Amino acid sequence: FAGLFDDKIKQLPLNEKIIRIGSNENPHGPSALAKKAMIDAVASSNRYPWDVTTKLRERIGELFKLNKDNVVIGAGSSELLGVTATWAALQKGTAIAPDPTFRLWIPAAKRVGLPVNLIPLTENKVTDLPKMQAAVDATTRLIYICNPNNPTGSIIPAKELEAFIKNTPAHIIILLDEAYTEFSDEPSMAHLVNTHPNLVIAKTFSKVYGLAGARVGYVLAHADTAKQLADLQPWANAGASAVSLAGALATMEDKSFIPYCKAENEKAKKIFYYLLSEHGLRYIPSYTSFVYFDATRYHKDLKTVLEKSNIFGARTFEEGTKWLRLSMGTVEEMRAVAKALNEG
Ligand code: PLP
Repeated sequence: FAGLFDDKIKQLPLNEKIIRIGSNENPHGPSALAKKAMIDAVASSNRYPWDVTTKLRERIGELFKLNKDNVVIGAGSSELLGVTATWAALQKGTAIAPDPTFRLWIPAAKRVGLPVNLIPLTENKVTDLPKMQAAVDATTRLIYICNPNNPTGSIIPAKELEAFIKNTPAHIIILLDEAYTEFSDEPSMAHLVNTHPNLVIAKTFSKVYGLAGARVGYVLAHADTAKQLADLQPWANAGASAVSLAGALATMEDKSFIPYCKAENEKAKKIFYYLLSEHGLRYIPSYTSFVYFDATRYHKDLKTVLEKSNIFGARTFEEGTKWLRLSMGTVEEMRAVAKALNEG
């Protein structure tokens, strides 16, 4: 996928003059409770944080009516997407993933011997489950589904996804990436992990919890599956730092933070949808913190116009098209986006 990703955004300094809306970070994080807990945890950084790791696994288990043995912690969920792909590669086969989707894990998967067969989304940019099912063959060991999907923000309704999981043969791992589920009102599929040991659900503290820089993610899986995955970590459950774990635990207790972030995200999306409609640009209704839209009808190169106003983040994921993804910033930042595009 070289060339599709715009690495410029990674080099940008963090300062007030630059609006950085390209990596689906949460502009409101970390929560006040998380910040305090992280500062307090600095002093204990000379010790391995086993107690906090266990507490976090228990707390996550409780949230999903599971227990700590169903939870594996990683340094971001991307670590665990990689671990799951490696587990599938060890079983000598191939994978299926939608296209476009979150592709970060794919190059490493290929390098460890897991070829990935990409299945185009539907015309409405939704993961095409029937086509994915039809693509399953004797070599298939893993099916990746991102729900809601990144970069399109579209969602597979829970009933359809649940049926798909139940109909998938038990020897095929379903790697379900729920990085953005909290932004939608759709349920997690966590209730299925104990009856479906082939289901691995990846989740993260980077998005609605506002802790992308802390690097904490986890998977939910049947205890036997969780153990298989943890056994592939150089040190099981030990990727996240004491400070990051403390932040993750604290943010789970911050009852007002998530509703606040979700409400602000909806306001930001409303501003952006209105702007796109005013310019006659098609967009995909988003269940996430970013919006996928077709910039073909904008009168100039939209990305260049934004960058002239120091707004970075519009990114291409489909070669040869003008579809772009933009992460939602604060309301103020989205007003700056509107001003830049209106003044063009
Ligand atoms: N999954 C999806 C769908 C994502 O969009 C991202 C980050 O953008 C990740 C996983 C990785 O998140 P992290 O490694 O920060 O937990």
